[in-house]
Formats: sequence, C-alpha cells, structure tokens
Amino acid sequence: MEQTPILEVEGLCTTFGRGGQTLPALRDVSFTVGEGEVLGLVGESGSGKSVTLRSVLGLARRYGEVTGSVRWQGQELITKSERDLRPIRGRDIAMIFQEPMTSLNPLLTVGQQLVETLQAHTDLSRKARRDRAIEMLDLVGIPAAASRLTDYPHQFSGGMRQRVMIAIALAASPKLLLADEPTTALDVTIQAQILDLILRLSSDMKMGVIMVTHDLGVVAQTCDRVAVMYAGRIVEQGPVRQVLRDPHHAYTVGLMQSVPEGVAPRTQLYSIPGTPPSLAHLPPGCAFAPRCAASTEACLATRPALLRVSEDRQLACFNPKNQTKGCAA
Ligand code: ADP
Ligand code: MG
Repeated sequence: MEQTPILEVEGLCTTFGRGGQTLPALRDVSFTVGEGEVLGLVGESGSGKSVTLRSVLGLARRYGEVTGSVRWQGQELITKSERDLRPIRGRDIAMIFQEPMTSLNPLLTVGQQLVETLQAHTDLSRKARRDRAIEMLDLVGIPAAASRLTDYPHQFSGGMRQRVMIAIALAASPKLLLADEPTTALDVTIQAQILDLILRLSSDMKMGVIMVTHDLGVVAQTCDRVAVMYAGRIVEQGPVRQVLRDPHHAYTVGLMQSVPEGVAPRTQLYSIPGTPPSLAHLPPGCAFAPRCAASTEACLATRPALLRVSEDRQLACFNPKNQTKGCAA
C-alpha cells in the first residue's frame, strides 16, 4: 500500500525512575504510520504498548524522561510545549484509553463531554454539535442515544462507558487514532461494530490508527502492518499477513503458537513459558534470549538491532531459526 507517513517515530526512549531504580520502559522504538494505515501493536502485558501511545501523545513525559523523535506531519512533538501540544491532542491525534473510567470526567454528562470536544476541535454550530453527539453515540451502539446525553458516566455500564469514550475520541474526526485495547471489555457483536466503525473512518477519512490489542484475530482482521514488542523494544514488524503467516522472531512464533492457521476472532495471545525480564535488570544481550530455544552465546552477549530483512519487514534477531519458510536475513 502506498502511503505518506503522517507519524514518524524514531529512536523513542522512555525511562521511568522509581525508588532509585531506572526503568527503561521504551528502548529505541521506531515505526511509522501512514495516512489511513492501521498499525497493530502486540506483545505481552508490560512490554511497553501503552507507554508507546502515551509517549507519542506527550503524556508519558509527566512521569518519566522521553527522548528520541516523534514527528507529526513533519513537526517534532517531543520538544513542543504542553500548550502547543494541546490543540494537536483530540483534534489531530485522539486516544482511546485502556481504562475508560480514568479518562471520562465523572462530573460532566456524556453529552457535555462530547459537545466540549466538538467545540474545541470543530467549527460546528450549537445545533450541529448536539446532532453530531447523538450521531456518535448511535454509531458506537448506545441505544436511545438522544436520551442518554444528559446521563453521567457512572450511569453507564463498563461496556457502555467504553463506547462513550470511543465516541468522544472519534467525534472530531482525528487524523490519527491511538486505540489502547479499545474493544477488550466489549462483547463480540459490539466489538465487531466498533472495529468496523474504526476501519470505516480509517478508509473514508484516511485516519491512521495504532491498534494495541491482545487479540490476534483483531490484528488479522483490522491491521495493515503489525509491530511486535518485547521488553520495551520492537522485535519484529511488517505487513500483517506476512508476519502472521511466517513469523521470523522466536517471540512472534511463540505468540502465534496456538494459532497455526487462519486466525479467528478472539484469538488470545499464547502464553510463552518463562517470564518477561524485569526492566530494572535487563540482560545485556537480546531480552528474549533467556526464554528462546534457539538462543546462542551471541544472543546473550549482544543486543540485536532491528534491521530490514526484506522490502518491508524488520527483525531484531541473530538467529531466526524458528521460522517455517527460511529467513531473508
Ligand atoms: P503494556 O504493554 O501492558 O501496555 P505498559 O506500556 O503499560 O505495558 O508498561 C510498560 C512498563 O512500564 C511496565 O513495566 C510498567 O510497569 C511501566 N510503567 C508504565 N507507566 C509507568 C509509570 N507511570 N511509572 C513507572 N513505570 C511505569
Ligand atoms: Mg497497556
């Protein structure tokens, strides 16, 4: 697919300090998102997916040190002031958070929150804002949408709150959507509706998407490309069909283990034996080496860089033996 990158992330490093310890949550993360492109971000819990989204949006620097480059339509965001970032958040780049309760304001009605977003980021008239608010609640599958505008977040069930948050994120038609496990809490039918809505906006409005998910079925069905994260780094990325059909990294192979062919919806990531390394005590070499059946001394001693192995695939592995069809490296 021919795409102009709207987001270019290069060498992103995010480090938290906690009790005198340094936690390198992201280490040299690089990727791009094109106009209308859906990039999947997968990996075990704690691998840095949410921190990646928060770092892109300029939220992680409130808690840690963020270095590297995040270019949004050519502008560097890392060095922008909070004031200059504010108009970009919500209007250009919107985020669906993993925890809906922390991002909805409990003191404002759902209608007020939708209208506030539309007021800040669009030129719509008062009447058009109300119509748009109802339309968005309707689109995300909230029954009797018009009558729910005056309800507060606590009057919605967990799944409904998630939908409200998605409605708010999508209301101002952002150019990039950062979706952090957006449908995990929802039932299959609603999940399919919301993914359809996101995909439709992505293709109609050329909205780029970074989709964080634990569900390989969602990746297979919605993403153009996928990046696999392990211990704060991207270890493999490429076109989704190629990566799922022929994973090169032993970690990706592990994730795919329970899904030999034809990934169905609700396919959860396989649990790989062993535990992810503590970020405070990362091994000097490949962070996955202690869990990797194919690891050698080189893997334990030196960290493999993420390198191009074919036209549009990248891999950080010295010893990609575990693949099914031979390696391009
Ligand atoms: P996930 O891939 O599950 O979304 P996260 O990106 O949330 O993982 O977290 C990556 C690592 O960063 C975890 O070890 C987490 O504990 C740590 N982390 C995230 N946010 C903070 C914070 N505000 N302060 C300290 N550590 C954090
Ligand atoms: Mg997360």
